[in-house]
Amino acid sequence: MKFNVITIFPQIFSSYFNESILKRAQKNKLIEINVHNLRDYTTDKHKTVDDTPYGGGAGMVMKIEPIYKAVESIKPKVKKSIKSRIILFSAKGKKYTQSDAKRLSKYDNLILICGRYEGVDERVAEHLADEEISIGDYVLTGGEIPAMILIDSISRLIPGVLGNADSLKEESFNSLKAKSHPPVGKAGKLKAKLEYPQYTKPEIFLDWKVPKILLSGNHSEIEKWRENNAN
Ligand code: SAM
Repeated sequence: MKFNVITIFPQIFSSYFNESILKRAQKNKLIEINVHNLRDYTTDKHKTVDDTPYGGGAGMVMKIEPIYKAVESIKPKVKKSIKSRIILFSAKGKKYTQSDAKRLSKYDNLILICGRYEGVDERVAEHLADEEISIGDYVLTGGEIPAMILIDSISRLIPGVLGNADSLKEESFNSLKAKSHPPVGKAGKLKAKLEYPQYTKPEIFLDWKVPKILLSGNHSEIEKWRENNAN
């Protein structure tokens, strides 16, 4: 999987992606993260990426030309047989969920466009992007954190990225577990979203105790307890 990020703040990405699991995934060539500086695709000496909005209004809007050039220069490197998708981050986009992460993890190449200022010329959404994604109902200063969220959540679904593949089976928003276990728990229904409380040593901290059932070694009772306490 290749991630191609278009941003005016490329340096934001280096510290996050050079640590831990994502660093190892890049080293092992399971993922590739290329960060492109949008200013490299401008033509004027001030490397202008924004301009005033038509019709007036507060703030500046990101221009379409440098974004178009950046996308075009990234696209030709991608072979026709490769599944590629262009994503624009926008607070008004479709809300991102774990099922989007799964869907997007099937692509070979994702081009991620990070907005700034008051947003991006609407023609990018209309003509360039395949989809507009919002990471939540709030407004951020830019699309860089959304891009990191996408890359992180998609990368960990790529086979080999997580040290222990079983981590994926038992975690929140994953229905895999529901398929591999008989229905137990509240009203006999399994929840699609399974996040149960987890504990580790020590067994007692101050006077706060780990639930006894988890120490019992009785796996079916533990399973029931987890189902009943998942939310
Ligand atoms: N004027 C825009 C509005 O009212 O929705 C906000 C623009 S915001 C300050 C600048 C950029 O941050 C956006 O173009 C987008 O790329 C990114 N952004 C802000 N909030 C976001 C969110 N919830 N999800 C995804 N991207 C977001």
